[in-house]
Amino acid sequence: MTRAPAERSPLHQDPVAALPPVAERTGTYPGAVFFIIGINTKLRHLGDGATRECPRCHNTTQWLRMRSFRQLTLFFVIPVLRWRRRQYETCGICGAVIDV
Ligand SMILES: [Zn+2]
Repeated sequence: MTRAPAERSPLHQDPVAALPPVAERTGTYPGAVFFIIGINTKLRHLGDGATRECPRCHNTTQWLRMRSFRQLTLFFVIPVLRWRRRQYETCGICGAVIDV
């Protein structure tokens, strides 16, 4: 009795031969570009502000002039868009804020 050559199961196929041709493996979306965006709040110290009495802690000190804005960035580094710009002074002791 002779045995017929056994069919090879799909598990024993050559793994490289099972892949589609190289030209079809270059990517699902050839030419596609993706961006990583982020939104954060930036604070800038602009120097000393006026000397005034704080309405919260009632100390008379020199306040700090600050600017803040929200910004949209590409790859968390490249600024693209800025909005909600605000300039204010903050108490150096308790951190109270007054818009100027
Ligand atoms: Zn204060």
